[in-house]
Amino acid sequence: MHGEPSQPQSSRIGSALSGLCRGLLELLYPPSCLACARVLPASAAFCESCDTALERVPPACCRTCAEPGNFPSGDCPRCRLHPPPFSRAWAPFAHEGPVARAIHRFKYEDHPELAEPLGTLLADEARSFLARAPTLLVALPLHTRRFRERQYDQTQLLAGALARATGRRAPVGLLTRTRETQRQVGLSEAERARNVAEAFTASASVAGQSLLLIDDVLTTGATARAATAALREAGAARVDVLAIARAYTLAA
Ligand SMILES: [Zn+2]
Ligand SMILES: [Zn+2]
Repeated sequence: MHGEPSQPQSSRIGSALSGLCRGLLELLYPPSCLACARVLPASAAFCESCDTALERVPPACCRTCAEPGNFPSGDCPRCRLHPPPFSRAWAPFAHEGPVARAIHRFKYEDHPELAEPLGTLLADEARSFLARAPTLLVALPLHTRRFRERQYDQTQLLAGALARATGRRAPVGLLTRTRETQRQVGLSEAERARNVAEAFTASASVAGQSLLLIDDVLTTGATARAATAALREAGAARVDVLAIARAYTLAA
């Protein structure tokens, strides 16, 4: 009998099912712009006009925290005066325009389905950072109360999507937020640091591990520092940080 060369029945059914799932998902969520929700003719992250408005973090930036600027020593003043506990933090985009709108929709406007396209986008845009980054992903966690209000933990969804897009792992429970914190928006840098100090605890299973901490927006790095400190206290060997977007906080 001539036929397809030996693809087992179960894997044929499996791929038919995954095709069906993809089809159903596209029916429920046709490809649309992450920022303005315009329906797109083909799968893409942004529509043409949002795409041209994208602002990427420039190559001239702090080698440790990606704050833009030309810093003679390589590090921005903040990293020079207070070296962070993470090895390096980076984000492909400035927290502006279409990317800021996309993150806002994802976080505050009940669009958990944006995790998948945002994870794919992050995998593409951060390819060279990821090539040198730890493979074990850990999401910056929400506090339980905020989780109940929002019904989803957007950063865990993002870390999961990034893990699927890059063949990595993003296990749940490595890092927890133990103390309620105020939203950081509108707080000064010192207030931000106080607000998040000791707000996290890490599982003992991170001992000896290298981890990549995932967040949506990197601002002064106060939250990333506090989360990294908890991971390092639990014995993590190294922590890198990756976010979708960076807010510029020093006048460059
Ligand atoms: Zn758009
Ligand atoms: Zn820096």
